Amino acid sequence: MPKTPITVARGDGIGPEIMEACLRVLEAAGAELEYEFVTIGEQVYESGNTSGITPEFWESIRRTKVFYKAPLTTPQGKGYKSINVTIRKTLSLYANVRPVRTSEPFIETLHPAMDVVIIRENEEDLYAAIEHRQTDEVYQCLKLITRPGSERLIRYAFEYALANNRKKITCMTKDNIMKLTDGLFHKVFDEVAEEYPSVETDHLIIDIGTARVADTPEAFDMIVLPNLYGDIVSDVTAQLSGSVGLGRSANIGEKMAMFEAIHGSAPDISGRGIANPSGLLNAGVMMLIHVGQSEIAEKIENAYLKTIEDGIHTVDIYDPSRSKVRVSTDEFADAVIERLGQKPQVLAPVSYANGRNVQTSFPLKNANPATRDLHGIDVFLFWDEGDRDPDELGEALSQANTDKLQLTMITNRGLKVYPQGAPETFCTDHWRCRFEPETDGGTSQQDIITLLQSVHDAGFDIIKTENLYSFDGQFGFSLGQGQ
Ligand code: NAD
Repeated sequence: MPKTPITVARGDGIGPEIMEACLRVLEAAGAELEYEFVTIGEQVYESGNTSGITPEFWESIRRTKVFYKAPLTTPQGKGYKSINVTIRKTLSLYANVRPVRTSEPFIETLHPAMDVVIIRENEEDLYAAIEHRQTDEVYQCLKLITRPGSERLIRYAFEYALANNRKKITCMTKDNIMKLTDGLFHKVFDEVAEEYPSVETDHLIIDIGTARVADTPEAFDMIVLPNLYGDIVSDVTAQLSGSVGLGRSANIGEKMAMFEAIHGSAPDISGRGIANPSGLLNAGVMMLIHVGQSEIAEKIENAYLKTIEDGIHTVDIYDPSRSKVRVSTDEFADAVIERLGQKPQVLAPVSYANGRNVQTSFPLKNANPATRDLHGIDVFLFWDEGDRDPDELGEALSQANTDKLQLTMITNRGLKVYPQGAPETFCTDHWRCRFEPETDGGTSQQDIITLLQSVHDAGFDIIKTENLYSFDGQFGFSLGQGQ
């Protein structure tokens, strides 16, 4: 078999120790890999490069398309960018895949039957990190959810379910509140689900969903979520499994992929040779499946499970009542190598040999363009007069109405305060003022410009605007709370 080239970063802190141990296991198992080592992280940051990434890394990953990455240290302080976020977004690694399985009774956990795969969207949502300070009191972060981004991720989740014999996918959102953004993710989930009738599906609101994951994670098979919720839920499941040292993750793109442990560079134990290499080793198993070396992947994971079962444990999972020997990073790798070819007797062995690779690239079917009509505009004002009485603002602002566009509503932090607000409502210095046509005869860009000139001439401080559109006749904006 020709060797598959992969890009490897030894990482920072415990990174070089655990990467060395993992590569030894991969070699001993007969993995057909050719390594291109790259330096990213602390050393690159220290050379004054705030991205932490060198051009050589980009050249290498574009050539190999597979990245095996040990943890990196992100220096504290301003100006340093997270390498993970940069790599994920630049290479469009859209799906973060985290399988979590427990190893009871050998590693302590309250949830022995947990066996769940989290698939988290990796590029969008609040992690677009488009943030602005708008007034003395108000800051905003834009939450972007896209149809192609959601559809690609959700299709990948269903394909993963088929390839890995998973029976059920639960989607979690907060679409009772965020009806447009989270509503889109949920809607796309329902649409794609129809094409996979053999996979059972379910949707939970994220708050009760997270509570149930924390309480009974064994009730879940696969969970697919937007970025922020996925970040939180995947850490909850990792923590419930027993040790962060065990967690593995794959970042999957259409053409490229990155495999890593979920933990960081653990500077508190670095250089002591005691770190647990399991998370990175199991990420290596995912990588071998990805490059079509499933038999070797299976051999390594079964030897790993046998090692755990034989009570050979690193310090983070060592427990005198469950463990037999406390070993170093290198000794753990030696123990796995000794067991290559063996299967666990108590823990369930894995079987990947007949597995098929998960499709990562899809023709996106549901992106039909809609007829988009301009309806009106939300004008955001900084206004801090007197007692911040919404009626006073509404009456003054109505003077700026034009023939085409009239003030129909003012909200403060999303709650309608004019007309007919409640006297108890606390108001900040940030007001969203909605202007709409009296009759739905259509609004032009010129109508918007005329209105903004009028609002400006009336002495108001415009901090931002947001056009209101309808798509195929359906309003593409939310109503004010209480409207
Ligand atoms: P961490 O995961 O490095 O460590 C948290 C705790 O878990 C520490 O007590 C550590 O000793 C322990 N631990 C972690 N991995 C272990 C292992 N394999 N074996 C045994 N014990 C282990 O998290 P942190 O301390 O918050 O972050 C340290 C650095 O890592 C920071 O610079 C952070 O930015 C970075 N980080 C990188 C990644 C990544 O590269 N993917 C992820 C998280 C954090």
